[in-house]
Amino acid sequence: MTRPRFNRILLKLSGEALMGDGSFGIDPETTSRMAEEIKHAKEAGHDLCIVVGGGNIFRGLAGAAKGFDRASADYMGMLATVMNALAMQNALEKIGVDTRVQSAIPMASISEPYIRRRAVRHMEKGRVVIFAAGTGNPYFTTDTAAALRAAEMGCDALFKGTSVDGIYDADPKKKPDAQRYEHLGFNRVLADDLKVMDASAVALCRDNNIPIVVFNIREQGNLARVLRGEGTATIVQN
Ligand code: UDP
Repeated sequence: MTRPRFNRILLKLSGEALMGDGSFGIDPETTSRMAEEIKHAKEAGHDLCIVVGGGNIFRGLAGAAKGFDRASADYMGMLATVMNALAMQNALEKIGVDTRVQSAIPMASISEPYIRRRAVRHMEKGRVVIFAAGTGNPYFTTDTAAALRAAEMGCDALFKGTSVDGIYDADPKKKPDAQRYEHLGFNRVLADDLKVMDASAVALCRDNNIPIVVFNIREQGNLARVLRGEGTATIVQN
């Protein structure tokens, strides 16, 4: 099976992707490197929008485990994604990439509110739209937000940047002989509970026929490479 060309993609960056080698927060150097990856993909002619996570700052589930009310903790998690979105915007604008941040929780002084048609228009004008605050609802994750926005923006694929180069049949960090899948069906991912994205995100992509491309975002130049159909990745599709 050859890889199709994806023109318009949604890139899901977890909060950890901005953390670098630290264990918390935003590393400016790593964020700049991510911005370069995105710039190269844009220069290769792809339309891009981004959903950023917040796990490098705050996760609702972890907060709830420590005694916060779950919904409040989730709102705190969503606010964390706004910080990451602003950091990403800053890094992109510094290297000449036009961006807009749209937040699912309106925050008029620092971002636009999420308005689908306006976001589509930004993309048509060549801007990178960064979606912040997840879906705007507690009990969801930014993976689900990524699947939702990918569908709303008419993306050809959802690119999930991780620290491994695809989906394996066992944890490659623990089992050196683990095998990487080149292609996988959505139902297999769900049935085997493969930890790619959470199940609601996978189901949303399946139902809307949006392939998920799992690749290593830490490797320099890899986003553009995988977009060219080169480099290693796993594609989840129907
Ligand atoms: N979150 C939420 N609703 C959403 C998206 C995110 O409540 O639609 C909260 C949730 O608490 C989550 C946190 O924001 O733990 C940070 O997002 P996530 O854990 O998905 O970030 P990532 O793992 O991608 O860094």
